[in-house]
Amino acid sequence: LSLYRVLFAFMADYKSAITLRAVTKYYTDSGNELKIFDKVDAEFNAGEFSLILGRSGSGKSTLLNIITGVDVPSNGKVFFGDICVSELTEDERTLNRRENVGIVFQFFYLIPTLSVLENIILPMELNGINSKQSRERAYYLLEKVYLKDKADRFPDTLSGGEQQRAAIARAIAHKPKIIIADEPTGNLDSDNRNQIIEMLLNLVKKEARTVIMATHGDDITDMCDCAYYIRDCRLDKIK
Ligand code: ADP
Ligand code: MG
Repeated sequence: LSLYRVLFAFMADYKSAITLRAVTKYYTDSGNELKIFDKVDAEFNAGEFSLILGRSGSGKSTLLNIITGVDVPSNGKVFFGDICVSELTEDERTLNRRENVGIVFQFFYLIPTLSVLENIILPMELNGINSKQSRERAYYLLEKVYLKDKADRFPDTLSGGEQQRAAIARAIAHKPKIIIADEPTGNLDSDNRNQIIEMLLNLVKKEARTVIMATHGDDITDMCDCAYYIRDCRLDKIK
């Protein structure tokens, strides 16, 4: 299965952006098996805002890592459109992620030695977008996330909310189909939290992207299109 086929196929329009089929995941820790998921199924529709809820340690990050291909299921399959990405090699999964996925983390993970502008340019560079276009798009995005005047600052000179806004600009810079956000507001105060949620919701509405966000609070379930709750190795669809 060539990667080009994978990427080309995923450019087509799919109702289900991502599908999990009978996904089981366990970690082996000094001979002991720790089961996280037991044959879970899920479907995340294109153009929707989906939530993954569950207590700390329930498996939210594990699930997102399985979706992005950072990790693979012990059993079962993960599909992007109709392509089974969990059967790709690690290199192929990396390329698929680089092109089709943007990730926002709880602790931002901006690259400390690059300016805010350079952090946003990086994913475009990795995808072979020319430097003039990358720069223009980076400035455009900085304006969108209210950081135009901080383009040349280094991440550690920004507040948490500002760093997360820069991280969102980075995540969407290469126009990925899927945005994954792992507790993106976990480290922010409530004003910044609302702003970040609004930005993610706008991405879905205005740019028809697919957002899957993990959170341990359930107070934004009203706003999402779809929600799953992780409990006892199961994934219950609650919306
Ligand atoms: P959450 O994101 O919901 O807090 P995680 O997905 O990070 O939960 O973790 C789920 C469980 O899996 C936890 O008990 C965690 O300790 C365990 N776990 C996560 N990653 C690993 C790993 N690489 N090896 C062993 N256990 C792990
Ligand atoms: Mg987590």
